Amino acid sequence: MFNNIFPIIYVIGLVVGSVIRFWYGKKFRQDRIAIFRQEGVAVGLLASLWGVAIILPLFHMFTNWFDFADYDLPIWSGWIGAVTFVIALWVLWRSHADLGHNWSVTVEIKEKHALVTDGVFRYMRHPMYSAHWLWGIAQLLLIQNWIAGLASLVVFLPLYLLRVPREEKMMLENFGEEYRLYMDQTGSIIPRFWR
Ligand code: SAH
Repeated sequence: MFNNIFPIIYVIGLVVGSVIRFWYGKKFRQDRIAIFRQEGVAVGLLASLWGVAIILPLFHMFTNWFDFADYDLPIWSGWIGAVTFVIALWVLWRSHADLGHNWSVTVEIKEKHALVTDGVFRYMRHPMYSAHWLWGIAQLLLIQNWIAGLASLVVFLPLYLLRVPREEKMMLENFGEEYRLYMDQTGSIIPRFWR
């Protein structure tokens, strides 16, 4: 019985995560952009694929396409997945709230862009990407299927590897010493609680 509850928990999390994304996306979309970095086809493609990867569990629930790739984990790992998902959603929410007007889908600098170093950004530079990693781990534990469960982790890895160096390079070019100091004091995706 409990095994059936985990995909439902996933869908609830997916809805909550999408609401957070759309709410902040809508709020800050009209901001004027000062510097825009062309991201290339690979990043665009991977970002779209990630969008598909997070909804694959719905296909797994409503079709039998991926049934051949099911695996079984003990019940407790499903609960770890549920807790991980809650943490992921909290970090996703806080990172959007703390970044405010400085948030963007692509790598860019807005007019009136400010370097955010408080809230969750006080401890790590990439809380939003951290939330995406946690989401992927939660998906793997909640959707016990090699395709629908693993998809977002597999897609996010290259996206993350391509994106972070470009983003940090742009931040360094714009904020210089201020960002360098901030880098020294924070973790990348794992929070650093000491300075
Ligand atoms: N990497 C961050 C932000 C992702 S949104 C995270 O994982 O939480 C991407 C945009 O955020 C980038 O285009 C950059 O302009 C902006 N950004 C990233 N870190 C920032 C910071 N500390 N302060 C202000 N803007 C930031």
